[in-house]
Amino acid sequence: MNQYNILLDGAKMPDAWYNVAADLPTPVPPPLHPGTHQPLGPDDLAALFPMNLIEQEMSQERHISIPGEIMDAYRLWRPTPLRRAYRLEKALDTPAKIYYKNESVSPSGSHKLNTAVAQAYYNQVSGVEALSTETGAGQWGTALSIACSMFGMKCSVYMVKVSFEQKPYRRTLMQTYGADVTPSPSDTTNAGRAFLEKYPDSTGSLGMAISEAVEVAATSGGKIKYSLGSVLNHVLLHQTIIGEEAKMQMESVGAYPDVVIGCCGGGSNFAGIAFPYMQDKLTQGKDIDVVAVEPTACPTLTRGVYAYDFGDTGELTPLLIQYTLGHNFVPPAIHAGGLRYHGVASLVAHLVKSGDVRAEAYHQNPVFEAGLTFAQAEGIVPAPESCHAIKAAIDAALACRESGEGKTILFNLSGHGHFDMSSYAAYFSGGLTDYDLEQKIIEQAVAEVPKV
Ligand SMILES: *Cc1c(COP(=O)(O)O)cnc(C)c1O
Repeated sequence: MNQYNILLDGAKMPDAWYNVAADLPTPVPPPLHPGTHQPLGPDDLAALFPMNLIEQEMSQERHISIPGEIMDAYRLWRPTPLRRAYRLEKALDTPAKIYYKNESVSPSGSHKLNTAVAQAYYNQVSGVEALSTETGAGQWGTALSIACSMFGMKCSVYMVKVSFEQKPYRRTLMQTYGADVTPSPSDTTNAGRAFLEKYPDSTGSLGMAISEAVEVAATSGGKIKYSLGSVLNHVLLHQTIIGEEAKMQMESVGAYPDVVIGCCGGGSNFAGIAFPYMQDKLTQGKDIDVVAVEPTACPTLTRGVYAYDFGDTGELTPLLIQYTLGHNFVPPAIHAGGLRYHGVASLVAHLVKSGDVRAEAYHQNPVFEAGLTFAQAEGIVPAPESCHAIKAAIDAALACRESGEGKTILFNLSGHGHFDMSSYAAYFSGGLTDYDLEQKIIEQAVAEVPKV
């Protein structure tokens, strides 16, 4: 009998996150103050984040234990199932063994709740009353809305305008959990008004929405803090629960991956599945092909420059080392809204730069096609973002069919696509464009990266 779902006993759920910074052969260049270009100190971040999260952001500890309140919140949906994709393997007629970690089972429908509950908890115990944030496709705003409701906090969400319009039910969902939702760019902040003046027809971007949410926190006198759903070290840290669980589950069936795949927007779900395996690669020399997958329409890792850049369009955030398309780059309005970010987490960039992580980019039509193959075999409708990881996993499995190799492939199913039906409908009607960005456009955007 095939064992499809590989479940981990709740009592065995990992009780510590893994911090890859402890095992890097060379340290990641530090974040810089946007004005002075000097390395940031903890106090520079204090207007936006509580000190306990700032400590995590700068920590070099290998493991950070998960507080009991967060463990209890995790227990609502964790440990998540690891699935052996027997049916997908059969559909592809491949000798490869495909496994995926199913983060779509969380109440928010994606991995993002893993860090949302942690951030809400650390803010709440620091006496913060409300959190402000941005959201692209809506998964992050939803996750933070749930987390804030769980820890008795208010939540205000700036939602990228194109998603606000494409995904009205995401907005309603956030309101259901008690959040305020504003389309960005908006006229409620100085940053938003400036964007509207410069680009009146803007469909928005994560970079713009971040500027608005940051402004709300920075001008609140400490009552409101800002919360980011990806990119920062502490966010990636919280997501490592995914890979820590996956390792135990794979081990319980005697499996170890040759290939580990995650889609990559800011880099958090990719880091979540990949970093615990990266530990084996860095400290034990394990031979794993670790792949970060991005859209061709927003090719940060494959066509961006490695440089210090702002996290937002309004130039309010610290300068972070990263691969970037420039903080003013506004990607085409592809349907994987969560992957429309101009930059990427410093930790992920560092590992791509060192060659320990490989990056791939795909067009959205073949990505949706892969999503359909997956949905029809496995029964789960994947988020458009997750379809990027699926596409890479399918390509790796098809390569095995050619070569006859029975590789073990592990990917992260970062979320389900139940709120993305309009995107699937656009795919069915042939309405999706595969964008090939001209080199000139990329060069223009990248020219606006600050000189450090
Ligand atoms: C937000 C999101 C992503 C992209 O963000 P990362 O930080 O790169 O993980 C990917 N998949 C889903 C389902 C998301 O909600």
